[in-house]
Amino acid sequence: MPILNRAAELQSEVTEWRRHLHTKPELLFAVENTAAFVENKLKEFGVDEIVTGLGRTGVVGLIKGNLGEGRTIGLRADMDALPMTETSGKPWASTTAGKMHACGHDGHTAMLLGAAKYLAETRNFKGAVAVIFQPAEEGGGGGNEMVKDGMMERFAIEEVYGMHNMPGMPVGQFGSRIGPIMASTDEFTITIDGRGGHAAQPHKTIDPIVIGSQIVNALQTIASRTVDPLASVVVSVTKFNAGFAHNIIPEQAVLAGTVRTLMPEVRDLAEGRIKQISESLGSAYGAKIKVSYGRNYPVTVNHRQETGHALSAAANIAGENQVSDDLDPMMGGEDFSYMLLARPGAFIFIGNGDTAGLHNPAYDFNDEAIPHGISYWVKLAEMRLAA
Ligand SMILES: [Zn+2]
Ligand SMILES: [Zn+2]
Repeated sequence: MPILNRAAELQSEVTEWRRHLHTKPELLFAVENTAAFVENKLKEFGVDEIVTGLGRTGVVGLIKGNLGEGRTIGLRADMDALPMTETSGKPWASTTAGKMHACGHDGHTAMLLGAAKYLAETRNFKGAVAVIFQPAEEGGGGGNEMVKDGMMERFAIEEVYGMHNMPGMPVGQFGSRIGPIMASTDEFTITIDGRGGHAAQPHKTIDPIVIGSQIVNALQTIASRTVDPLASVVVSVTKFNAGFAHNIIPEQAVLAGTVRTLMPEVRDLAEGRIKQISESLGSAYGAKIKVSYGRNYPVTVNHRQETGHALSAAANIAGENQVSDDLDPMMGGEDFSYMLLARPGAFIFIGNGDTAGLHNPAYDFNDEAIPHGISYWVKLAEMRLAA
């Protein structure tokens, strides 16, 4: 079956919404106007319940089916933009310097609104669909905030699905995979407090530069000697700040960097080893070591069964040969990961065609993808909530 006729009919209207949102990007949790736009549309569609202010500025609309009582599934879009200046030159380009929809969340929001309109018109399912619009995907963890606000319990959501556009993948194609699909993205800072002194009298100092160098070297063994070579891990030291003169050994050195993994257990292992290696080397040389390790987004792990459901909904509207079930995982992060920790579900990518890449100043969401995205959401809801 190709895209749904009604979804094709909705394309021009949803494109207008998308371009409107594109001109007015908002950042992180400060998506008040976008959230108000979403709320007004959901009211217009006559959805059964609308809750705003979830996770500060998130919005959820509940649409009940006409085929009787049943389970509730969640469909999620993100609403926030990025702190960068657009160079697309499109007539609907951002009107605010320093803010732009460079990740296509305007398209995600518009497509889910299109699906909400369709589902509220037809209601050809049992149970209910919760359409979830979250703030602060690009840092801030808005998805996590909505989960912590009790969204899953409040709407009795049993499964949850997310979708992201992918530049370079042809329009009309979809891709996903079972298991890890996006990485965890953590940051660490290692502060080495030694004893400064004259560079010509190193024996009277505890040199934090020498200790820091050994720590940098030893951290390389996390990837080469600690983690299974078949698992993915990145440990990159990206800052090494110390010293200010040729003849002074400084008191302190500060290292910082990032850790990316695709498996929660590898993430735990990397965090533990960074602390152990740094503290042991510090104590071997008599320096004081402080390691701070910040966990940002967890690994986005697609659940087996739900990934199957997502892929079969995609195949149903796009055709089997337009859907990949073994997309390579990416080392970027996604805060839909928190929703997948709370409920089973799956994250899928939808082709954005030959456009500039995500987070590029020339990027623009491809409106040709709209009917495909709407059809996917509708088909997934109707398949999962079939009578
Ligand atoms: Zn992004
Ligand atoms: Zn994004």
